[in-house]
Amino acid sequence: MLNVANLRAKIDGKEILKGLNIEVKPGEVHAIMGPNGSGKSTLSNVLAGRDNYEATDGTVMFEGKDLLSLVPEDRAREGIFLAFQYPVEIPGVSNLEFLKTSLECLHTHQNKPLLSAVEFMKLAREKCRLVDLDTDFLKRGVNEGFSGGEKKRNEIMQMLMLEPKLCLLDETDSGLDIDALKVVADGINQLRSPERSFILITHYQRLLDYVQPDFVHVLADGKIIKSGGSELALELEEKGYSWLESGTEQSA
Ligand code: ADP
Ligand code: MG
Ligand code: MG
Repeated sequence: MLNVANLRAKIDGKEILKGLNIEVKPGEVHAIMGPNGSGKSTLSNVLAGRDNYEATDGTVMFEGKDLLSLVPEDRAREGIFLAFQYPVEIPGVSNLEFLKTSLECLHTHQNKPLLSAVEFMKLAREKCRLVDLDTDFLKRGVNEGFSGGEKKRNEIMQMLMLEPKLCLLDETDSGLDIDALKVVADGINQLRSPERSFILITHYQRLLDYVQPDFVHVLADGKIIKSGGSELALELEEKGYSWLESGTEQSA
């Protein structure tokens, strides 16, 4: 589904990703962990096509298409969803308008019938309930004045509405209390299917207690330096990252 090969990327002329490889097959859940500043958010921003992130080498193929040649809107239409580490506020655009426009756009692209206003509202209310957000949130500006936890729930709400093929969650679990963490985990587990894949960027094992990953990768200094199964996350929790980083220096 997603194949990232030897990806190099710069922000403001500074190289952050230094030859990154990752392959994600349909149905798989990959966790990416790694020290602060190692390039995790840069990876998700490059995949989403955010401004100022320049891929300088390597390839990113998504379902056989060259992702890097697509504008961000087209990446979203292809079924890529990014939950940002710091969700953006869009004052003046209500959650409802935002979701309706996004969903119509997706359904049109996928040649699916559009939902009626009634069907759409029913769906939106149902998803709000799933993430434990009051339906009043639907009328408010996207993330406008939302608390940290509400923003993260809202990201999951969007994900549940849009049913993307590839979901990238950048530290969606950070700073959440245990109830909100479970909401995030339940949202992921609910969408988990043989056709859908996830990349979960996280600092903490605790999300992975609820969402069992198929693979865990350690990103350090712009490269994946170690990959393993879910046991690797437990090992990292116990030992930190330094044993791995010093390991790469020795072998380099
Ligand atoms: P992580 O998500 O793993 O904590 P990031 O991808 O956010 O790491 O950041 C990787 C590196 O890129 C950091 O050293 C950070 O300071 C740098 N960086 C991020 N954004 C910018 C920017 N706009 N300009 C310059 N450097 C940046
Ligand atoms: Mg960080
Ligand atoms: Mg980050």
